[in-house]
Amino acid sequence: MPRKPSERYPLNWSDIALDIKQSVNWRCSKCGLQCIRPDDDTSKLERSLRMALTLTVHHRNFLPEDNRRENLCALCTACHLSFHTRRRGNVSPGQLSLF
Ligand SMILES: [Zn+2]
Ligand SMILES: [Zn+2]
Repeated sequence: MPRKPSERYPLNWSDIALDIKQSVNWRCSKCGLQCIRPDDDTSKLERSLRMALTLTVHHRNFLPEDNRRENLCALCTACHLSFHTRRRGNVSPGQLSLF
């Protein structure tokens, strides 16, 4: 039985991801978009905008087990999605936190 993607992540994934995001100052490393920081007030943003401004961490080699620093990069949702749609074609934005 194939394992769920979330089970391929280390327990400290959120710490690793946070570290990457902080190191790039919450900016997308592809397009430079300033994304939402943890202390930003997002209560007035629409859900779709909040999604667009959410910084995610991407695995360059598409292997969630490989959490070496050089394999990780911070991307906004649109840029992250473009990497995955080019490769798989069936990833929804909601799934991106898993990739
Ligand atoms: Zn971007
Ligand atoms: Zn990714």
